[in-house]
Amino acid sequence: MSHPILNVEDVSKSYDGFKAISDLNFYLFEGELRTVIGPNGAGKSTFFDLITGRAKPDMGRIQFFEDDLTQLNEYEINRLGIGRKFQAPSVYRNHTVWENLLLSLSGTRGVFAALFHRLSSDQRDRIDELLKLIRLDEKRDLHAEQLSHGEKQWLEIGMLLASDPKVLLIDEPAAGMTDEETHRTGELLLSLAGKHSLVVVEHDMTFVKQIAQDTGVTVLHQGSVLFEGKFDEVQANPQVREVYLGRGKHEP
Ligand code: ADP
Ligand code: MG
Repeated sequence: MSHPILNVEDVSKSYDGFKAISDLNFYLFEGELRTVIGPNGAGKSTFFDLITGRAKPDMGRIQFFEDDLTQLNEYEINRLGIGRKFQAPSVYRNHTVWENLLLSLSGTRGVFAALFHRLSSDQRDRIDELLKLIRLDEKRDLHAEQLSHGEKQWLEIGMLLASDPKVLLIDEPAAGMTDEETHRTGELLLSLAGKHSLVVVEHDMTFVKQIAQDTGVTVLHQGSVLFEGKFDEVQANPQVREVYLGRGKHEP
């Protein structure tokens, strides 16, 4: 059995005395696609904040390969190969799809320099590859603001992929998407597993079922892991059902 690449152990984080994350243990293996579910306020986004250095734990360890992430800042953690996608898409609205990918490919060089710098054929190939992967090849010359909500989300995933992260943390990608966009997003994430390790936070149970057929689901509740298992086991678990039943529509 291989070792996990990301080890979160006994982590807690309080805000004004409220334990958003409480003795959390979480292990991610290389190439894994893990889905994290849980009611609103369960601590899912805070969990991402702690991994990415946006927030620091009060207690516990977060180790990524050999590095102790609790000692590093957001920028340093990102440089280690941990990319995060927030819920709302953030793309350069007045640049084309192609330019958006170029800008993320060239990192910190700056908008002007990136757009006027001569591109290597490797860079062009990489952008073409990303365009195909996110299925926006035919929309490469549209301004990002002309894209649908779902397409903007895919573009942002493409921009994250440009830096070839080892781990992708993706927060509620299907929120606000049409059913068809949601399904395509599932296909995209499934195609990334293996090459990247992914943690996907999601509410939409149809979507969770699609992406978590053969992979693990972690259920967060009050900042801790309530249950971990295959989708069918999660769905059948009485404790999980109880936590969700009070919430109505998100019932798994
Ligand atoms: P989820 O993403 O599962 O809906 P969150 O992680 O956003 O839940 O929030 C968990 C709890 O932590 C909530 O009660 C929220 O109000 C609180 N919380 C999260 N971040 C902060 C913060 N920066 N300041 C104060 N409270 C916070
Ligand atoms: Mg959240």
